[in-house]
Amino acid sequence: MVKAIVIGSGPAGLTAAIYLVRAGLETTVISGDQPGGQLIFTTDVENFPGFPGGILGPDLMTKIREQAEKVGANFLDSTVIGVDFQTKPFVIKTLEKELTADAVIIATGASALWLGLESEEKLKGKGVSACATCDGFFFKDKEVCLVGGGDVAIEDALFMAKIAKKVTVINRRDELRATHVLQQRAFAEPKIKFVWWSIVKEIMGEDIVTGMKLENVETGEVKELSCSAVFIAIGHKPNTDVFRGKVNLLPNGFIKLEEKSKTSVDGVFVAGDVFDYEYRQAITAAGSGSQAAINAIRYLETK
Ligand SMILES: Cc1cc2nc3c(=O)[nH]c(=O)nc-3n(C[C@H](O)[C@H](O)[C@H](O)COP(=O)(O)OP(=O)(O)OC[C@H]3O[C@@H](n4cnc5c(N)ncnc54)[C@H](O)[C@@H]3O)c2cc1C
Repeated sequence: MVKAIVIGSGPAGLTAAIYLVRAGLETTVISGDQPGGQLIFTTDVENFPGFPGGILGPDLMTKIREQAEKVGANFLDSTVIGVDFQTKPFVIKTLEKELTADAVIIATGASALWLGLESEEKLKGKGVSACATCDGFFFKDKEVCLVGGGDVAIEDALFMAKIAKKVTVINRRDELRATHVLQQRAFAEPKIKFVWWSIVKEIMGEDIVTGMKLENVETGEVKELSCSAVFIAIGHKPNTDVFRGKVNLLPNGFIKLEEKSKTSVDGVFVAGDVFDYEYRQAITAAGSGSQAAINAIRYLETK
């Protein structure tokens, strides 16, 4: 039995833990099968404040975890496989054991959806990215490609048009799913070009991206297109399977934020990419982790 349990050890979960422990609450962080979260899989992070020279993603996450451990957070390197939010205290089941807590913060993040190509896997972090906001700046004045046609893809294309020399959007149909206003902005932007009816067969390059092989789904014709980066913007999957039916989810599977970090269950709070499908940044995740912790502390004070 602890006062608070944080599920997830990315920027959101670790920041929440720092705040909870410093408020005098015994806190356990269950780190999941990706201790440190998504940043563990990236190289340079140049937009997290405090590191003027940038910092490697794994180094940043090691430092934040060290800080959480130093203030006294307990860590359980395990995965949550079930929760019971109908009893008080709440019950959290992990692969190894069951824990109970008076307050829970869900910070299980989300995973970018990828095309599933071998060449994509090989070139991740070498020009292949799922985050234009994070990695776009590395391709200043270069020609880049972007795969997708929804709101996020077109927002990313517009973002990249401010940085890159040319942005080519690859879409499997001849129309976009993005909202009309975004489409209009993209069509009016001279730096953005579209390749319709096309899917990516291969991302080319040995150590860095040099281009793509695209197949026209109508004619079967394969063409090569050169570019220095490929941004995959086909969506994100929130890590919420274990919470289905336990707290309210949105139709897209992300946790529904009721108000002030609250989920639909009193005493269960949420932070980071698992609810925030809009900003998806380390700093916003960390910020929402601090908010969730402060709201959990206030909740516990009233009990
Ligand atoms: C390749 C890449 C590069 C990026 N670069 C940048 C960048 O430069 N700057 C930036 O600001 N952002 C960047 N981002 C985005 C940033 O990583 C995320 O916005 C941020 O990590 C979200 O933090 P989070 O704590 O909400 O979730 P995550 O980092 O996704 O962490 C989720 C945590 O939950 C745990 N978990 C999941 N399921 C369970 C379970 N059932 N039980 C227990 N634990 C569980 C996981 O193990 C993990 O520890 C990048 C993302 C990627 C993929």
